[in-house]
Amino acid sequence: MNPFRIELPTPFDVGSVNVYLFTEPEPVLVDTGVDSDESWAALQDGLAAHGLAVADLQRVVITHAHVDHFGAAARLTAHGDAQIYIADLGYEWLVAPKRKWAQRIDFYRDYFLGPCGLSPQAQQMVLAYMTFAAKSSTPVAPERITTFTAGDQLLMGGLDWKVLHMPGHASHQTCFYQATTRQFISADMLLHKAPTPIVEEPPDGKTRRPSLPLLLNSFTILEGLDIAIAYPGHGPLIHNPHELIQQQRQRIEARKQEALNHIRQGCQSVIELVNLMYAHYPENGRIAGLWMVVGYLDLLKAEGAIEEREVGGIWRYFVKGD
Ligand SMILES: [Zn+2]
Repeated sequence: MNPFRIELPTPFDVGSVNVYLFTEPEPVLVDTGVDSDESWAALQDGLAAHGLAVADLQRVVITHAHVDHFGAAARLTAHGDAQIYIADLGYEWLVAPKRKWAQRIDFYRDYFLGPCGLSPQAQQMVLAYMTFAAKSSTPVAPERITTFTAGDQLLMGGLDWKVLHMPGHASHQTCFYQATTRQFISADMLLHKAPTPIVEEPPDGKTRRPSLPLLLNSFTILEGLDIAIAYPGHGPLIHNPHELIQQQRQRIEARKQEALNHIRQGCQSVIELVNLMYAHYPENGRIAGLWMVVGYLDLLKAEGAIEEREVGGIWRYFVKGD
């Protein structure tokens, strides 16, 4: 059987988030929405439309530990017996989200936002947004969590879904593929607009791992799958996944060239590029632009088109050979 989409509200710029409900042979929910009363009410309504209540859920599967996807997991365990399933890579975010957020905030404050050239006020704004997300992250008790690994099969709707590790938006992002029915739960790996390559705190706390190159690798994995329908984390169902990825690849390529041209014309820092390339965004909404620009720069560096030099504590970019 096919999963039903239930759309839940979030307080974030992303708007609503999708969770998916398998009703038979036993009720399984994929993702939870945020931990808010509005979202909780919408979830109850969504379940009730299929004759179900929270207490009927047997399992809750989390695609990735972003707060709009797992936020209500703890609340779900308080109102029923459902076990929460998440990839081993995302486990820490569920049991200790505050600690994980603190590590990310430390990294952004000490090693990332300054070198990007953000003003102290802009840095404060980004850190405040992260602190807000951290506050909305409620930990789940370890005994209520079961982990799975890439390559495992998850039983949902009476069928086996293969777990695929698809980093780029989140390093611990997992997607689920049902080969017989050609269904794909893409979560935030395949969206109507290209997923943002979120910059994460590195394991050593200092050296950042490029996210956009990882995202493009995940696109390649996706292009190798035969998919009739994809279930995204946001927005309506996707019936043309391969075409959509092609469009997103072209857009990324064009924007990357745009970044290169700006650098050639003397635009040197991340923030200058963000302000030029995301001039159409409100100033307090440019964090997504910051991640994308850093992604384009990562691609250009990997291709050897530009080099990065730290000057006065700020990363500056130069076209190679100029
Ligand atoms: Zn996400």
